[in-house]
Amino acid sequence: MLEIRGLTASVGGNDILKGIDLTVPDGEIHAIMGPNGSGKSTLGYVLAGREDYEVTGGSASFNGIDLLAMEPEERAAAGVFLAFQAPVELPGVNNANFLRTAVNAIRRAQGEEELDAVQFLKLARAETKRLHMPDDMLKRNVNVGFSGGEKKRNEVLQMALLKPRLAILDETDSGLDIDALKIVADGVNALRGPGFSALVITHHQRLLDHLVPHRVHVLSKGRIIRSGGPDLAKELEKSGYASLIAEAA
Ligand code: ADP
Ligand code: MG
Repeated sequence: MLEIRGLTASVGGNDILKGIDLTVPDGEIHAIMGPNGSGKSTLGYVLAGREDYEVTGGSASFNGIDLLAMEPEERAAAGVFLAFQAPVELPGVNNANFLRTAVNAIRRAQGEEELDAVQFLKLARAETKRLHMPDDMLKRNVNVGFSGGEKKRNEVLQMALLKPRLAILDETDSGLDIDALKIVADGVNALRGPGFSALVITHHQRLLDHLVPHRVHVLSKGRIIRSGGPDLAKELEKSGYASLIAEAA
């Protein structure tokens, strides 16, 4: 279970998160929506421990462990996974090697045996096939020359291989066509169940059609101004954020 209480954070000296209270029980998927600039990505980065994002107050714990006290690598080892809005390109770094290193780092931290190159490739090929990704994406350099859609699929591949306990997807759907949206949703749905929670940051009701969330939260100016069931996303698609924001002001 993810428990966030009164979380405030600043970036570059600007206060961005102004008191976030959010609980994601074990096994649940929650969507975060809200206008651009409201702090959605900041929330994801703060939970993953990205540098330059300064927590100024409040708390965030995952299964009772203080997330904010941990280094980013320790958070990853504890099963926290962040799929970036803009995945980084790593020229000269082979995608399969990169993924195997990440998977083995987590297996080590969790006391499991590491996978050798042959074992890993077998697993990775099965996952790329399931995600309808071309095999050669494993041989290429990480995200270099990948289309927007391929980068997002690569994030979903990472998630499938890492099997996180808490996944934070930051607009993993942006720029995806309808088929690719379904692949992202299926990637999350495949992990659904006890021992897995997710925060899905999205603008798209379409993604949420495939990935029915337990709860939907609307973030505006660093605060959650409304929470509801899946119908809230449908309502927002019709009426937009403006009336909600006016109501909350
Ligand atoms: P969202 O993901 O909801 O669109 P962000 O979390 O990316 O919003 O950004 C929230 C606010 O923080 C924006 O006003 C943005 O300009 C600001 N911000 C983000 N990153 C930085 C940074 N590195 N330095 C200064 N301000 C930033
Ligand atoms: Mg964002």
